[in-house]
Amino acid sequence: MVLAFEQGPIRPPSEAFSLLFRLTRNCPWNKCAFCNSYRNKKFSRRSVQEIKDDIDTIAEMCRLVKEISMKRGFGGLLNMELLVQIHNSEDYQLFHVAYWLYNGGKTVFLQDANSLIMKTVDLVDILQYLKERLPTVERITSYARSSTLARKSVEELYALKEAGLSRIHVGLESGSDEVLKLINKGTTAQQHIEAGQRAKKSGISLSEYVILGMGGKQYSREHALETAGVLNQINPDFIRLRSLTVVEGTPLSEKVRNGEFEIESEEEIVRGERLLIEHLEQIQSSIVSDHAMNLLEEVNGKLPEDKEVILAVIDRFLALPPKEKQNFALGKRWGVYRVLDDMLDATQHAKVAAALEKLEQEGKYQETLSFLRNQVI
Ligand code: SF4
Repeated sequence: MVLAFEQGPIRPPSEAFSLLFRLTRNCPWNKCAFCNSYRNKKFSRRSVQEIKDDIDTIAEMCRLVKEISMKRGFGGLLNMELLVQIHNSEDYQLFHVAYWLYNGGKTVFLQDANSLIMKTVDLVDILQYLKERLPTVERITSYARSSTLARKSVEELYALKEAGLSRIHVGLESGSDEVLKLINKGTTAQQHIEAGQRAKKSGISLSEYVILGMGGKQYSREHALETAGVLNQINPDFIRLRSLTVVEGTPLSEKVRNGEFEIESEEEIVRGERLLIEHLEQIQSSIVSDHAMNLLEEVNGKLPEDKEVILAVIDRFLALPPKEKQNFALGKRWGVYRVLDDMLDATQHAKVAAALEKLEQEGKYQETLSFLRNQVI
């Protein structure tokens, strides 16, 4: 019989080397206007016993990987050669566990969208069991909604931290109530603040995700300034930047069609990004642009000391002549450039310039840019 445990479809980019398994299925809210991750999928809970059984299965898979290593002459060790063999000969989940072990077997991400919706006492039980059965684990992380976090006391969150929960990833998206209402986030700015402050007080590391461009043209300024205001009150460990991409079939795409939401241009989004970062004050957060959807992936650094360096990256883009801004945007979305310095490569620059000219002649620049952005999701 093939061993199996339940996994969901999503993880944050920073959890690329983590073991992934499910505590709950899908999203209990599932109504954010921009989100397609769990659309048409019903939320359901898993019992503590089911989850513990999955942890046992993962522990058994760890043992199996060792056994395979012994049998194939690797002395119980796991190197790239054996990893490739396991990839080619075993099922995907055994490979996932082997890949995790190859990367140290240290980090776990609990799926899906809001594991903290479970009762604290059950979560503590699961975290303790996980650490007992998988003793190499050093970091356990999960997504959580602010409205759920805000219902847990600092004492409960502290109990989770003591049981092993190291980091919580929260989709803040915006700190503006207008924007939160527009995107149907089901959370207010005040709840974001309460939730974030509680997580911080408990000692759990906190990542807040912000969507650049989420205010659209109408609320661009409010989005930047009020998001900065909320983040200033939370002081999260990480502020992770994402750029809005409107996914076809979402309520937001409908709002775009009927004119209720106007998508900002690449430059407007970058201007909003600058306004946001400029107004982050007296916090010690790391700013991370760890997603290819961001036009300026090099906007990274620790506040307050790197603020000027971060703003200088943004200003470098904003100071480009209009044609060069278009050149960078197209090259970035096309995958020719990653960072601004890539434009200095004359061959690549000429290649993008030629494509840009052709697209402009055909009146297809914007359309192509939107198409390329949507490919990144
Ligand atoms: S809470 Fe997260 S997963 Fe759920 S609908 Fe909103 S963005 Fe999507």
